[in-house]
Amino acid sequence: MKVLIENIGKIVSGDWDKGIIKGDSVLIEDGKFSKIGFEDEVNANKSEIKVTIDADGMILIPGYIDPHTHISIGEYAPMQRMVGILEEGLLNGITTVMDEFNQFEGLPLFYPPDPEGVKATAITTYKAWKNYRPGGLMKVHAGSITLVKGLKEEDFKELAKIGIWRVAQIGGSSDLKPAELLEMASWARKYGMFIPTNFGAGVLKGAVYLDSDFVKNLQPDKLAHTNGGSTAAPWDLTREVMEVAPKAAVELVPYGNLKMGLRVIEYLKSRNELKRLIVGSDTPTGQGYFPIAVQQAVKFFSSLGNIPAPQAIAMATGNIQETYKKWINTGKIQEGFEADCVLIDKPPGSVGTDALGAIENGDLIGTAMVMVDGKIAAIHGRDARPTLKHIKLNGKELYVSDPNEALFDPPRFYWKSTGETYLL
Ligand SMILES: [Zn+2]
Repeated sequence: MKVLIENIGKIVSGDWDKGIIKGDSVLIEDGKFSKIGFEDEVNANKSEIKVTIDADGMILIPGYIDPHTHISIGEYAPMQRMVGILEEGLLNGITTVMDEFNQFEGLPLFYPPDPEGVKATAITTYKAWKNYRPGGLMKVHAGSITLVKGLKEEDFKELAKIGIWRVAQIGGSSDLKPAELLEMASWARKYGMFIPTNFGAGVLKGAVYLDSDFVKNLQPDKLAHTNGGSTAAPWDLTREVMEVAPKAAVELVPYGNLKMGLRVIEYLKSRNELKRLIVGSDTPTGQGYFPIAVQQAVKFFSSLGNIPAPQAIAMATGNIQETYKKWINTGKIQEGFEADCVLIDKPPGSVGTDALGAIENGDLIGTAMVMVDGKIAAIHGRDARPTLKHIKLNGKELYVSDPNEALFDPPRFYWKSTGETYLL
């Protein structure tokens, strides 16, 4: 099954170092990028291609990855009484999501600590999300284990065997003393698990600022919401923590403390370590929910932090792939990667020269196509910014003109196993 995207204006690789890569065409075979370059290099035998997408000069970027969410079983958020939360993100270009730990109405995740409860929750959530893809296509990596008193080494072994590969962010709340947390984290590490820390003052009972000694001993894989989640820690502590865990990804969130976010950027810039930056949403906790959260983060930190748009996009794509590379093969437009990508354009009225200029100028961009595994998910998000240009699908121009479609019910696609794409 072959899909060709042609007439692309710029291809943003998602790779921080490569930025924009040369070419105007991308060939997709069996859901993965197989060739990237100029049309004659891609040299596609057009008779074999089932679906041709004419990008009309728009910009192709990898699908966004949101590495920081707190989802429940199924696509709803009990705390906010919301449903369909992740599908909304898909319509705005988020193609992969990671779960930090789960929220359930009435489930005592923290009050009081319950080892059986956190384990059962991790397993149930993992299994519930294993085959469910919001909007039909979004990839969700759910099920993470919250560290509480009473968990034993054999629990981590059992969880890892089931397929659970993440510890919930450490520091949000806990009844464990630092030495106990470190021992438990070492068990998780032994079974190959990813370890993030919650950084910033917590809102939950038992939450504390993590001190730099603890972080130094832990050596986490990620410092979650370094600019506060949502309240920022003192600057000296923030700096120390980034310094003592030099291999940890540094996550920024759009709803956190933006001033601290810019300070973190300036500091990493001075040390030539900007590549450590990733962005996440914290969806759907009270502070974090909005389907354009990742887009917001990209344009905030690009426009205010003077990060060129291709690198700001890498913070939401390729840098996250690097952080989670043992587990995901998405986030870069690169041969062999899963064909998750988005065609973006500047919205009408933006002074940016194109979508990248719009981002650097602080404008939200429009999406003209969201694709997962080579399949088109949507051409527009609900109440998303419009685009100036539109795609042509096998020669037919597709766009949203009806106000109802633009605001409430954007056209979505279904894909038959025979390769035909059809509009719902
Ligand atoms: Zn969080």
